[in-house]
This record gives sequence, structure tokens and C-alpha cells, in this order.
Amino acid sequence: MPERFVTRFAPSPTGYLHLGHAYSALTAFAAARAAGGRFLLRIEDIDRTRCRPEYEAAIYEDLEWLGLEWEAPVRRQSDHFADYAGALERLIERGLVYRCFKSRREVLEEIARAPHLAADGPEGPQYVGAPLPPEEEAARLAAGEPYAWRLSLAACRDHLGAAFGALTFTEEGVGGGEETGRVRARPEIFGDAIIARKDAGASYHLAAVHDDARQGITHVIRGADLFAAAHLHRLLQALLDLPAPAYRHHRLITDENGKKFSKRDRAVTLRALRAAGATRADILARLGLA
Ligand code: GLU
Repeated sequence: MPERFVTRFAPSPTGYLHLGHAYSALTAFAAARAAGGRFLLRIEDIDRTRCRPEYEAAIYEDLEWLGLEWEAPVRRQSDHFADYAGALERLIERGLVYRCFKSRREVLEEIARAPHLAADGPEGPQYVGAPLPPEEEAARLAAGEPYAWRLSLAACRDHLGAAFGALTFTEEGVGGGEETGRVRARPEIFGDAIIARKDAGASYHLAAVHDDARQGITHVIRGADLFAAAHLHRLLQALLDLPAPAYRHHRLITDENGKKFSKRDRAVTLRALRAAGATRADILARLGLA
């Protein structure tokens, strides 16, 4: 029997939902309906400093207002830090990650001294580092210095061998560079990515990849601004022996100047539009979904 279509909308409660979120949620919901599949909602709230309960409550209210229905219970990532720690532990056991004690500033200074490392990746400079010598690491740990875990591209290449260069993912939509179909995964664009943040013990990448597998997601539907993440997510799936969903990145909703909406654009939050008298039909029309 073919695998049933399962997709999700995975907002972070760091602000009110805007038109861009509405487009994503409605697109994923419609795809699930069209395929006779399932639509899940996931709250991505591992960043405890930026996420707020009132934004989470507003997500439910706004999505209901848009006419969406999702399965209960909703998966809230902050309830599952132990799962992400378990996934990280598997990467540690396999020698694929190393502790990084550096601040962002130290990383930038190091890159400035070695400009051949200066290429920019999706999350800033493509930093490639290495574990500290054991005595120095032990001393810093003993001093209680905070650290992040970085994925070592070199260790991943050793671990996967030829499979590293052969990793691909399926793009059913289009990426920012018009990528579509079978796309070769290029996780190296991230450099040695931070897989567990100093402050959170996980990262968006680790938590999202873990949860997509845990929730049985067959289709990841989200904005093209997250296309680059699929390169790294595919590698994490291979390292953690997780299934690879298909990706369907969609166009971004932009303002009249062609700029993508952000959480700072208060005028286009769904609640501001609603307060100004907009109906669900107005939103659908504005998004070209009517
Ligand atoms: N939480 C992410 C965001 O709000 C979405 C992540 C995803 O869909 O993979 O942009």
C-alpha cells in the first residue's frame, strides 16, 4: 500500500503569523486535502528566549480563523528536548560532531584571518573547525564554559564515504535557484553547521529533521527561503538513519516592493488584517488562492 501523504505547518511562536505564514499553512493544508492525506501542526519553540505563549495561542486562533483543521495533539518541540538530546547523542557516539566553545565574534575574527574560509553560507560564514585538543577541552569543560556542537563535514565524509557525494533529495516545488526534481544535496554550503546551540541543546535543523521523521512526514511544504536547509537536512537524515521526505518549497509572499514579509511587518499580521476588517476570503484573494 502506498505511504499516505503526511505534511505539516511548523511555525515558531516568536511573533504573530503574517501573510507569508498564511500562504504556507494554506498550501500545505490544501495539498493534504488533495492527496487525501494528513495535515499536522508543529510548534517550533526551542528558542526559549524568543518564543512566547501568547504567540502560540495566537497561532491556533489565526489558523482556525483561516479555516484550517489539524490533528491533536500538536507537537510542541519544547516538550521534547530529551528526544533531541538522544539524536545528538547518536551523532556524538559516531564521532560526527565536536564541541565548539567559540563565540560568533571569535568565529568571525578567525575567518577574517583566513579569508579563504570567508564564503557565506545560508546561515553566515562557512566556518570549518576542528575539536580542541583533549586537555584544552577538558579545562574549558571544567571551567563550565558553554559550548555548541558542530557537525564535522570531514567526519561526515569519512563516515558516509562515497554516499556523502551521492546524497540527493526530491524537490517537487522549486528552490531559490530554480532547483527542481532530483537535487544533489550540498550540505557543505553550511560549513560545519551548529547542530546543538549553546543555549538550547538542539538546533532548528536537528529538531526539525528529528520531528519530520517522528511524525511520519512524507512531504515537507514550506517557503523557498528554507530551501537551502534541505541540503543539510538530507545529510542529517542519512547520519541518523531517518527516512527522507520529499520537499515542496513554494514561492514567497512579498510586499509591493518585492520584499518578503517578516515578523516585524506588523501591518500584515493576520490579526492586524482581521482587525482592519479583512475576511478569510479577502486573505485567500490577496494570496492568489481564491
Ligand atoms: N519554524 C520554521 C519557521 O517558522 C519553519 C521550519 C520548517 O518548516 O521546516 O520559519
